[in-house]
Amino acid sequence: MTRVAKKLIENLVMLQEIELESNSIQSQLSELPQKLAKIGEKLKTVRETIGEEENRLNELKKKYRSYESDAEMSLSRIKKSREKLNAAKTNKEYQSSLKEIEDLELINSKLEDDMLECLETMDKIETEIDTKKKEYLQLTDRVNTEKDLLQQESEEAEKRLIRLNTDWSSLKEMIDPVLLEKYNTVKERVGSVAITPVKNAVCQGCNVNIPPKLYNELQRLESLMFCPHCQRIIYPITSN
Ligand SMILES: [Zn+2]
Repeated sequence: MTRVAKKLIENLVMLQEIELESNSIQSQLSELPQKLAKIGEKLKTVRETIGEEENRLNELKKKYRSYESDAEMSLSRIKKSREKLNAAKTNKEYQSSLKEIEDLELINSKLEDDMLECLETMDKIETEIDTKKKEYLQLTDRVNTEKDLLQQESEEAEKRLIRLNTDWSSLKEMIDPVLLEKYNTVKERVGSVAITPVKNAVCQGCNVNIPPKLYNELQRLESLMFCPHCQRIIYPITSN
């Protein structure tokens, strides 16, 4: 390989490295809004769960209040029935009041059970809400740290991108326009990697063997050469 050819290849390879790194940084940066949205989504889910639990708690509080007024009413009805019982003149009246009281007491005892159950559920939900709120605070901390980190990373990536762009511009100046044109044509045709080494007679771009005659010519590298299989620009590297 002549020194001139070696320099040409080196420049192209370097240009490609810069382009590949730029592309990767750009795609990394383009994922940022999505990443941030995903983080926000986590917080939203916990917040919504807390809201749902709080609604459930409020419903239960309402239910409990209505139980309370039912119980009050039922107690006053029992009181009235007792008065009726005391004032009963006939056995029939007495028996009927007694039955009334029994029924009301049954209702009342059922109400008391319901109230107790309601209180227990309310306790449980309150504990759950407390736990979720603590979780939310912790998650908020984590989310903020994560956001800061992403922000920092993206700022560094932007800086690196600017540096790469400068390097790319000055390197481009040093490359023969015709060669650059060829490189760009190949790049458009095959995708991002346009120049690739050949190692042990195998093109590293497509992993296909280079015919022996071409491989021999490649060692001399007197002109730009292309892989007959993938059409990428190829250059030799020694295997070890
Ligand atoms: Zn190839």
